This record gives sequence, structure tokens and C-alpha cells, in this order.
Amino acid sequence: MNHIKKEGYTLKITDVKTHVLRCKIREPFGFSQGWYDTRAAMIFEIFTDQGIRGWGECWGPPEVASAIVNTVFKPLLIDEDPFDVDKIWEKLYNHTKAFGQKGMTVVAISGVDIALWDIMGKTLSLPIHKLLGGSFRNMVQAYATGLYFKKVKNPIAVLAEEAQEYVQQGFHAIKMKIGLSPEEDLERVRTVRKAIGDDVLLMVDANHAYNVHTAIKLGRELEEQKIFWFEEPVSPEDVRGYAEVTRSLNIPIAGGEAEFTRFGFRELLIHRSVDIIQPDLCITGGISEGKKIAILANTFGIPCIPHAWGTGIALAAALHFIASIPDCPSSANPIPPLLEMDQTSNPLRELLIKNKIKQKDGFVRVPTNPGLGVEVDEEVIKKYSV
Ligand SMILES: [Mg+2]
Repeated sequence: MNHIKKEGYTLKITDVKTHVLRCKIREPFGFSQGWYDTRAAMIFEIFTDQGIRGWGECWGPPEVASAIVNTVFKPLLIDEDPFDVDKIWEKLYNHTKAFGQKGMTVVAISGVDIALWDIMGKTLSLPIHKLLGGSFRNMVQAYATGLYFKKVKNPIAVLAEEAQEYVQQGFHAIKMKIGLSPEEDLERVRTVRKAIGDDVLLMVDANHAYNVHTAIKLGRELEEQKIFWFEEPVSPEDVRGYAEVTRSLNIPIAGGEAEFTRFGFRELLIHRSVDIIQPDLCITGGISEGKKIAILANTFGIPCIPHAWGTGIALAAALHFIASIPDCPSSANPIPPLLEMDQTSNPLRELLIKNKIKQKDGFVRVPTNPGLGVEVDEEVIKKYSV
């Protein structure tokens, strides 16, 4: 905080660097929209005149986000004060609003914004959740995201084994992929439920594979399987279709990982399209926008349980954010604000952060180090940079 004590206050952004990371994975895996055989990440570094540096991450094709930041946003960021985070957000959004209210421009803003919060925390020697109004919890319950589609001889047996592994690792909540066909989905879900027993929370994610009719038909069959939430049953643009599914089923409907900014979430909330909203900080506009979306959802009585994907930078951002979200509604036995922990093969997630975020008995400790609290391994950046 030396610069604050000196002749007046000064902190300025001097440079922005983007890192496009990519690697092949050992075992390809599928979901309702395709197959992964590589993993990629878009990592940001923002530098200041006081030597404090922030890390950020965003989603989607990293080369596209990198191009937007380097050609459009960088000149708008130089000489700005990272503490003017709302002002900067509006500046970047308004500059690109005519062609970028949704999609990769907002994704690129997300990564910049996360890096600014990291700088603010490091400058004040405070963890980000302190700057967000404080932490409602020191420990956050985690859930394992896995159980994707695999090209193996006996996929059903492999699925049961994988689900049991997560329980053995300590998880009390698991999310699995559906969206192959209603018949195959039902077989998969019944298999997993049988393998993990009735006490483990089980969520299903169709990644918007279905129309309203099929989603409702499948959902009625799934009601017997004690499903904690049914994620992205229908296409993200179908705000009214979502509402129909939500009204028709006795399973909470979750969605929003493919939605952008408070303006996008406003529509989901007005139409009461979902029971749980799932903004992804690396997509929807960063920590600044995530906080506004969570507050907006709270005014509608809808819990916010963010989607999280990517490296430890994205995971740390989600963790601080979750820590700062009040229970909705406040209760002796509230809906747990879960942290999504991707369990699929991703060397970037495994290696990029030296002080890796780990679950124990299904819970993760909220970081107390300044900023995001992550130590980035720059050798890993070098190794996987494209
Ligand atoms: Mg999902």
C-alpha cells in the first residue's frame, strides 16, 4: 500500500498480456454438443505502475478473446486505475455494445475484470471476497462434474465406477452429463443413482440437447431419481420454453452458463425461467457483473450457484464469488451454494496453479491470500503457450 501513503494516490495499468494455452488430452470425452480431445485456456496478465500484477481467465476460443483484448480493449485499459473497476467495465461494454452485447466481447471483458479484482486485492493485501462485502462461509461444498460420454467397450459399467470414485474421494454431490437420447439418459442416470446411493446429491446436465416436449417427458421420468437439479434442458435463447419446463417438473431447473450480463439474466428472472441461475464469471462479464447478477437474482428469490470451468484462476474467482453470496432464502437448512469442480482430464487445470484448490470431504476452504490467492506457475504457461 506504499503508493497510497506517498504523494497522493496513484495506480495505473501499464500493460495487458494474453496467453493462449492449449494441450491434447489422453482420453477424449463427449457431451451433448460434441467431443473434446484438447483443452484450451485464455489467461490474462494485467500490469500496473506499482509492480502489482493481476491474473484473469476467460472462456471460449482463446485466440478470439486474445484478439479482442489486444486490438480493442488494450488501448482503452492503459493508464486506467484498476480500482475504477465498474467504470472500466462500462467503458469496455459500451465501446463494443453495438456488436457485442453477448458472446466473445463480453467473454473478453470477463477475463480483464477478474484480473482487475486480483490487482485490487493484492494492492490492499485482502482476499477478493473481503472486497465483495465479506464471506458468508469459510468452507464451500464442492460438487464433482464428470460422467461425460466415453468411447469405451462397456460405457455403463465405466460410468458406475467413475461415480463411485467421486464418492470415495469425498464428494457428496455429483453432476453427470445427459443428452444422448431420453432412453440412454434414463439408463445412465439410474445406473449412477444406484452406484452412489440415495444420500449423494445428483445433478444432470443436458447442455441444451432437448426441446420443451422432450425435456418435460424425460424430466418426469427423472423425478423418481431424486435429482437435485436438471441443468440446461433446452436451448439458452428459449427463455419461455425454459419457463414451461420449470413449471412442469418437480425437479429444480438450472441454467445460465451460456447467458451474458445482468441484461441477459434479467430475462430469465422476469419470466421465472429457472429455479437456479448459473452465471459463469469467465463468460458473463467477470466478478463485477457476477455480483450484480447474484443480487438481481436474490431480489427475485432465485439462488445463484455459478458455473465454473477452466484452470485454477477461474476456480479461485468462483470460490471468492460463492463465498460472498448470501443464502437464498436465508434458512437453517439453506440450498448449498456449491462450487463446481470439473474432474475431466485437463493438464492446464492440474498444473497452472501451484497452490491448487482441493476438496476434502466434499468441501473447499475459501482462500485467504490477497487477491485471487493463486500462485501461477509461469513455466506451465511457457510450456503450453501456442
Ligand atoms: Mg452445464
